[in-house]
Amino acid sequence: MNQDQAKANLLDLDEAPVGDVLTPTRRPSGFYGGLYLPTDKHELAGQPLETAPPPPHVVLPLTQHAGLPAIPCVKPGQRVLRGQQIAVADGFISANIHATTSGTVIAIDEQPVPHPSGLSAPCITIEADGKDEWCELHPVVGDYHTEDPVRVRQRVREAGIVGLGGAVFPTSTKLTARADINVHTLILNGAECDPQISCDEALMRRYATDIIAGARIVLHILQVNRCIIGIEEDKPESEAALRLAVEEFDDDRFEVVRVPAIYPEGSERQLIQALSGREVPSRGLPLDIGFVCLNVATAAAINTAVTTGRPLTERIVSVCGDAIARPANIIARLGTPVSSLVELCGGYTSDVDRLVVGGAMMGFAVGDDNIPVVKACNSILAMTADQGRSSKDIRPCIRCGECARVCPSRLLPQQLYWHAGSHDLEKLERYNIFDCIECGCCDYVCPSNIRLAQHFRFAKAEIAVQDADRERAALARQRYEDRNRRLADAAQDRAARIAAKKRKAAAAADIHKRRKVITDVMTRVRQKEARRDRTETQ
Ligand code: SF4
Ligand code: SF4
Repeated sequence: MNQDQAKANLLDLDEAPVGDVLTPTRRPSGFYGGLYLPTDKHELAGQPLETAPPPPHVVLPLTQHAGLPAIPCVKPGQRVLRGQQIAVADGFISANIHATTSGTVIAIDEQPVPHPSGLSAPCITIEADGKDEWCELHPVVGDYHTEDPVRVRQRVREAGIVGLGGAVFPTSTKLTARADINVHTLILNGAECDPQISCDEALMRRYATDIIAGARIVLHILQVNRCIIGIEEDKPESEAALRLAVEEFDDDRFEVVRVPAIYPEGSERQLIQALSGREVPSRGLPLDIGFVCLNVATAAAINTAVTTGRPLTERIVSVCGDAIARPANIIARLGTPVSSLVELCGGYTSDVDRLVVGGAMMGFAVGDDNIPVVKACNSILAMTADQGRSSKDIRPCIRCGECARVCPSRLLPQQLYWHAGSHDLEKLERYNIFDCIECGCCDYVCPSNIRLAQHFRFAKAEIAVQDADRERAALARQRYEDRNRRLADAAQDRAARIAAKKRKAAAAADIHKRRKVITDVMTRVRQKEARRDRTETQ
C-alpha cells in the first residue's frame, strides 16, 4: 500500500468506538521507505532466558535517560540496599536511579559508559556485599483502579522507569496529561525490528501477562480506553502469548495487531503510521496527535513498580553476534559490566572485530567491554570482520538516490550528507535533519558505503551545541542589556535626586532671602518707630 492509499484509509480514532474500527482489514498498513532485513533472531528469542549472577560491583551512570543527569543523594562509604534511591531526577525530563545490589558506595566519579562519544561520565559505583538485600518496598496495595491516576503515575516516576526500547525518555513524562491534548490511544510497541535484537521478543513470549497488566495500569493513568499492540508478523509465538494474556484479562480495550516486518517498524513514528495511517508531525511527538506509545518492556517494568514497589533495577539484554560463543538473552541488573555478560555467554570467538551497543542498524560501536549495562542497553552485539560493513571502502556519493528511496522519514539523505560535510547547519535544519531517526536504512543501501546516519548523528550534536551556544549568547546579551538598563535607571535616579536636592536648596535659599527682606523691613520699621518715639519725647 502506498502513502496515498494509506491516507485514504485514515481512521478516525477519536470518533471510533472501541473494538469496532481497529480491525486489520480496515487498517492502513505500511509507511514510506524501510527495508526487509534478513534475521535469525527468533531462534535466540525462543531459548530460555538466563539471569546474570550479581557482579562484585555495579557502576551506575547518572545519565541513563533523556534529559538532565540525576543528582546523587548518597555519599562514598554509605551502605545502600537494593532498590534504594541513590540519585534524584533533576527536573521534569530526568529519572531517578536506584541501587541494583546491596553494598557500599565506593566512588562517585567519572567512569567509561556506553555512549557514542566514547567519553567517560559521572557514575556511582557500589561494591556488592553479596547479600542482595532489598530496601523496604511500597507497592500500590489492593486495586490500583481505586488509586488516583496521578499518584499511580508518581509511582512510575519514583521507580525511575524510562522507555526501554532504546529512546530512554522518562516514562512518567510521557504519561503526564496536557490540557490542550486529548489522548485517545495507547500503543504498545512489540515491533522489535532490528535484525539482531530479540530481548523484547523473549519478554513477550514469557512475560506477556506482565506486559498486559502494565498496559492496563497505563490505561488507568491516562484514563484512556483503547490499547493497540503492534507486533510484527514474523513473531507468531509472541503474538499468541499476548493474545492469550489479553484473553485471560478478558479486557476488550485491547487489540493485538500484526504489522509487516519492515525495518524500522519498531520506531514509534513508523509504528503509529502503520497502525493508524497518521503521521507524527515533523519535530513533533506522538502525543501531539493523541497517541502514547510505550515499548512492551516499559509496560512490564510499570507493572513491577506498581504491584511490587520494585524500581527499575534490571532489564533483558540480547548478547549476540557471530563473535559471541553462545548468544543468549540475559536478565541483567543495571550496572553489571558488559564483560561479565559476554563471559556468561562463553566469551568471544577469536575473530571479534567490532563491539556494538544496540542493534546492528541503530547501535554504536564501543572501544571495549569495560562499560556497564544501562537502562538503554537492549543489546550487546559482537561482530566478526565478515559481519557488518566495517571492512568496506567508503567511496564518493554517486547521487543514485537509493538512500532517499528507503528513508522512512522521507528525507533526502544525500543532500543532508552534503550539508553535513560543509557544516551548513542552517541548511541541515531546513532539510529537517531532526526528523532523522538514525535508523541506518540509508547506510544499508548506499552503494558507496557512506556512513550517512553517523554523519547525521554528529551533525545533530553539532546543531545542539550551536543552539546551546546561541542560547548562552542570548542569555549573556540579555544580561548585558539588563545591566545597561539598570545602570541607566540608576543614573537617571541619581540625576533626579541631585536635581531635587538642588531645587530644595534653591527653595530654601529663596525662603531665606525672603525672610531676610522681611527681617530688614521689620528692622527698618522698628528703627523708624524708635526714632519717632525719641522725637516725640524731646
Ligand atoms: S545512496 Fe549513497 S551514493 Fe547513492 S545518493 Fe545516497 S549517499 Fe549518494
Ligand atoms: S538514518 Fe535518517 S536519513 Fe537515513 S534513512 Fe534513516 S531516517 Fe532517513
